Amino acid sequence: MIPENINLKAVLFDMDGVLFNSMPYHSKAWNEVMTNHGLDLSREEAYLHEGRTAAGTINIIYQRQYGKDATQEEIENLYKEKSKLFNSFPEAEPMPGAWELLQKVKAAGLTIMLVTGSGQRSLLDRLDHHYPGIFKPELMVTAYDVKHGKPHPEPYLMALEKGGFKQDEAIVIENAPLGVEAGVAAGIYTIGVNTGPIPDDVLLNAGASELYPSMQALSDAWETIYK
Ligand code: CA
Repeated sequence: MIPENINLKAVLFDMDGVLFNSMPYHSKAWNEVMTNHGLDLSREEAYLHEGRTAAGTINIIYQRQYGKDATQEEIENLYKEKSKLFNSFPEAEPMPGAWELLQKVKAAGLTIMLVTGSGQRSLLDRLDHHYPGIFKPELMVTAYDVKHGKPHPEPYLMALEKGGFKQDEAIVIENAPLGVEAGVAAGIYTIGVNTGPIPDDVLLNAGASELYPSMQALSDAWETIYK
């Protein structure tokens, strides 16, 4: 249940793994592209990097393997390949329960914002198709807006600024450990939804105040979370 000191006005939604079941495709695309370039990134590890900018993820792998950052050109090429592969996969389905939860949040008169590290135009374009009338461009923070990706608090702090909200007027909905860390680092009450293969402990240790096994479970519990 959301603590009483929170005067809830806005709900900040992450996108991949929260609104769309896109993480299986992201992790597969990362794994394949990295492997093709002799770089070591398993699908499972890709889930742990979820939320980072592409450059951030690529540099972690480069540092581990070569002891140095990738060049700008290498980053751009890898990200381009990864995006191309990702876009060749079937379209990610909306996460079951997400539409229902968004309707409840909207009906409660709360502002809905999107905060994502993604720069995938394909998914951003599909938001309006699958969630019509919910997300407004001026209430979105994407990879195009921020310098620092999650787990840095910048994306969530920028969302508060864009929406004109204070820390104690919002909550965050996140599925990834780094996303949870970002919400917590921004000083916002963060709810985790474990929609992937990561153990619950990882999300709880990242600082999630509440944890649900799916968006459907979160939607079902909404009336007990927010009264
Ligand atoms: Ca996510």
